[in-house]
Amino acid sequence: MGLLSSTPLEFADRWTEDDGVAVFAFTPTRPFRHIAGQHGLFAVKGGGAKPFSLASAPEDDQVVLATRLESGSRFKKALAALRPGDRVTMRGPIMKFTLDGAGDDVVFLAQGVGITPFRSLLRHISAAGLGVRSTLLHVGDGHAFKTETEQLASDARYHRDREGFAVDLKQVATNAPAATYYVSGVPQFIAEMSAALKDLGIGRKQIRKDNFRGY
Ligand SMILES: Cc1cc2nc3c(=O)[nH]c(=O)nc-3n(C[C@H](O)[C@H](O)[C@H](O)COP(=O)(O)OP(=O)(O)OC[C@H]3O[C@@H](n4cnc5c(N)ncnc54)[C@H](O)[C@@H]3O)c2cc1C
Repeated sequence: MGLLSSTPLEFADRWTEDDGVAVFAFTPTRPFRHIAGQHGLFAVKGGGAKPFSLASAPEDDQVVLATRLESGSRFKKALAALRPGDRVTMRGPIMKFTLDGAGDDVVFLAQGVGITPFRSLLRHISAAGLGVRSTLLHVGDGHAFKTETEQLASDARYHRDREGFAVDLKQVATNAPAATYYVSGVPQFIAEMSAALKDLGIGRKQIRKDNFRGY
């Protein structure tokens, strides 16, 4: 981690999405580059540091993270207490969950707040005019960023229950056996999706994972 660059960010704005997901927008205090789908290590004064996917695209002026606050952890309390103009530090971004090497057909499988890197990737595909076909399947008690993601994705489906999600996943995997599959959410979801995709005949090399360890 010592080699990661560090960017000071100024807290600018905050709003709430569906499912109680709190969104925090920051203005970088100096030019900042990242690739859609990456995450950074955010340090908040009095709260320590935790990793978060960047929910913003490289084309956006602000850096956005989205999370749930109800754990009441020291980190989340410090995040919730931010006032406009307060500084946080982001180390990274860290390269991993990007479109690099993927074809022009991608499938995004998200659980809960695991939607965050897909907001970044969908905004980037659109802003850069990449001509990538994107299918989003989101399962959760609610659907943060739904209005936006359903407009941006070529095909977007939202489920509250896992049964409906599994039916759609089977249909998508049957229709897109050669696509690149991205899975984002808590470790249990990642494990379940890895097994399900394998059963559906999707090769290991076609699957990319963003494991929200810490949940
Ligand atoms: C690559 C990566 C990307 C990530 N991206 C995101 C993102 O975009 N958005 C996001 O929200 N998170 C993301 N995370 C997870 C994030 O870093 C935090 O771990 C997460 O938000 C939980 O933080 P917390 O402070 O609320 O956890 P804590 O409150 O410290 O909880 C940590 C664990 O302890 C459990 N726990 C807490 N309190 C109790 C208790 N009293 N009794 C029993 N168990 C308890 C929690 O359920 C959880 O499993 C990402 C993680 C990684 C590794």
